[in-house]
Amino acid sequence: MRTRRLIVLISVLLIITALLPVSLSVWMAHQNATRVFTGELESFSARVMLRTNMVASQAEDALQQLETINVTPCSREHLLEMRRVAYSRRYIQEILYLRGLQPVCSSLEGKKKRAAFPRPLTMTPKGYRFWYTAKSDLGIEHDMVALGSTHYVVMIDPESLIDVLPYGAWPINVALIGMKRNLIIASSAPLANNVWVQAMHTHQTQFQHHDIMYHIMRYPALNLATLTWTSTTPLDNDLQRQLLYWLPFGGAVSLLAAWLILRILRRLQSPRQRLLEAIRSREIIVHYQPIILLENGRLAGAEALARWPQPDGTFLAPDIFISLAEQTGLITPLTELIVESVFADMGQWLQQHPDLHISINISASDLGNPALPTLLEQHVAHWQLDAGQIALELTEHCFVDPQMSASVIAGYRKMGHAIYIDDFGTGFSSLSYLHGLEADLLKIDKTFVEALEYNNVTPHIITLAKTLYLKMVAEGIETPQQEAWLREHGVEYGQGWLYSKALDKHAFIAWAERR
Ligand code: C2E
Ligand code: MG
Ligand code: MG
Repeated sequence: MRTRRLIVLISVLLIITALLPVSLSVWMAHQNATRVFTGELESFSARVMLRTNMVASQAEDALQQLETINVTPCSREHLLEMRRVAYSRRYIQEILYLRGLQPVCSSLEGKKKRAAFPRPLTMTPKGYRFWYTAKSDLGIEHDMVALGSTHYVVMIDPESLIDVLPYGAWPINVALIGMKRNLIIASSAPLANNVWVQAMHTHQTQFQHHDIMYHIMRYPALNLATLTWTSTTPLDNDLQRQLLYWLPFGGAVSLLAAWLILRILRRLQSPRQRLLEAIRSREIIVHYQPIILLENGRLAGAEALARWPQPDGTFLAPDIFISLAEQTGLITPLTELIVESVFADMGQWLQQHPDLHISINISASDLGNPALPTLLEQHVAHWQLDAGQIALELTEHCFVDPQMSASVIAGYRKMGHAIYIDDFGTGFSSLSYLHGLEADLLKIDKTFVEALEYNNVTPHIITLAKTLYLKMVAEGIETPQQEAWLREHGVEYGQGWLYSKALDKHAFIAWAERR
């Protein structure tokens, strides 16, 4: 269960790690391209503002100087002074001398009569009067900016306020906006009305309309704002360039991360890991196959057989996972789990039936586990059983190293456990291990029970067992004929589908009670 949850978690992680670096690199590419693009618009705005400030201070400077002129207004000397002030300043087109709002004379046209100025549109932060609507009455249809002190007005071409070329490789347009009245003071190109409305109402610094990016910079201290705009093509081109730079990085990191996580996942999904998890979470359970006294058909006990339930409801055969456990070093915890389960399942039942026994299959490497005798001893004592009620089934593999096995087996027998020789005759070891072996019972493998009428080895196995004073259990009895033959030949016990398959603990106890 834990592994499955871990696998889901890691799979999610896999998807995230595979997507994250790629998304991050796309984001980086986008960020970089936008930063460069917006940076260009901002620096252009700043330069426009610098120009506007420069023109404004030139006008203010002129007005200050004009107010100090101390000659008869509109006299020849006065006109000359005004002309001199205008000529020496690049951005000033014309200077007018005013009485109230009425121009009296001008640097360009002397004393020619002109229309009076309206009330000023606003006052600048430095206290100068500001007009915008005044048309030059030189006959040119051109809006002018006029800045006035008490007696003088300087006329400026608004375009000079924004007369700045962009540094970048692509054209940028700009409009200078008076914030108090949302007035376009100067614009390098016509602005679509809907864009203008959007620019006035947005609180953002940037917005896109069709394929054009608009950028607003506000200068509240000056009551001015700039709106710059340009085609998004350079942004798109740069984005592509940035992607070419960042995507390979992101892709490589994604691949690396995915590869690493896949490796972990593969390890987690390995049969060993799944088996380990099944042992830890006690998924593997025990079924019990009855062992019968052939003489009278009464129950003698049962063999404990491991079962691994699968999610589809089936059981994985122990032939597969027992050898997997043996090969991957998991047999020790697996056998311990089986032993604990046998006592948990059947401890009470064995206590109630002291004449019955359970046999447990033991692998060769279990003989080297010093914890196993202790475990058995504790459980036998806990349930107050006779040690003889627990038998150990050992296959030929357990006897390969007689020096080691003999003493361990002797130890188990001394504790009171019966030793069964399982699957007798199916291994390829020599019979020499039987010599001097301390065992109690021999299990005749089902291959020797299958076709008794043609099998002339079985009688010899029976004779051998009798010679060695070993009792016998015949495995895999499926027909009454097999049962009869075995009984006639002096085999004491039988086990097989003729009686029952291996059953879970409840079914087995119910079966036993019925018997
Ligand atoms: P085994 O100890 O010889 O167990 C007898 C096998 O024969 C069992 O197979 C049983 O289900 C099967 N069998 C019983 N009666 C009949 C029958 O009438 N006809 C047929 N065709 N088969 C019958 P199972 O449960 O698949 O176990 C296979 C082997 O796995 C066992 O052979 C045993 O060597 C091993 N095994 C099972 N449980 C454990 C365990 O807890 N620990 C260890 N170390 N090995 C185990
Ligand atoms: Mg067995
Ligand atoms: Mg067997």
